[in-house]
Amino acid sequence: MDPSGSPQGKTAWLSSPYRTPPEGKGTDYAGYPAMDDATATESVTHFHKLGWPVFAHTNGDAACEQFIRAAAAARGDARGGDPREFVMIHAQMVREDQLDEMARLGIMPTFFVTHTYYWGDWHRDNVLGPERAARISPLASARRRKIRFSLHNDSPVAPIRSMVLIWSAVNRLTLSGKVLGPEQRVPVEAALQAVTIDAAYQYGEEGTKGSLRAGKLADLVILNRNPLKVDAMELRDIEIIRTVSHGIPIYERPQPLS
Ligand SMILES: [Zn+2]
Repeated sequence: MDPSGSPQGKTAWLSSPYRTPPEGKGTDYAGYPAMDDATATESVTHFHKLGWPVFAHTNGDAACEQFIRAAAAARGDARGGDPREFVMIHAQMVREDQLDEMARLGIMPTFFVTHTYYWGDWHRDNVLGPERAARISPLASARRRKIRFSLHNDSPVAPIRSMVLIWSAVNRLTLSGKVLGPEQRVPVEAALQAVTIDAAYQYGEEGTKGSLRAGKLADLVILNRNPLKVDAMELRDIEIIRTVSHGIPIYERPQPLS
């Protein structure tokens, strides 16, 4: 389900106007909903009743609000259910009050955290202004509320590079090398958790994936350096030397010719 566009394209639905409106739009332009409230509530409720988890593409904070409203309506009086029943995809601009509501209702985000890297300068200087841009992908705010989350690349929008996700979550550096929202940085352990056990949990696969336990599938990678020990800035340079799927090696890094 897709109730929102993208902030970098200025189509995400916001609760207050874009810093710089796109060509031909007035200063009150705040994006737009991809569907009306009734349609959002109806479809979220429909799939929830069928027992399906509802993953909604939700970028701007007005779109987040619509999804929260729809999930609340679908839950009815049942509060604090399994947060995997309602997953907010991207959640780029989810606000503090909305995170409170998500913790209360049971809604789980998956953050596209490399937004801070690829479009962070653009968000700060043009799309949102410094204040809102600093809160893009608010991982630390979610963590403070004990909301579990995963991280994703939204491939092919951004390349599939898990170490860049981790590096980005820990450093929040933009393309020009500035830190965007230092207070939203998280420790490397939290970033690792978000691409392993919490990602598995989000898909209901934590019984077979996401951590190293006897009886799990042994889907894992071997890295050339320990992410818990390297300098935070070097996290993205860590290389995968072996990939194991269901216990069987399926990739070996080619050895350099000596
Ligand atoms: Zn998207």
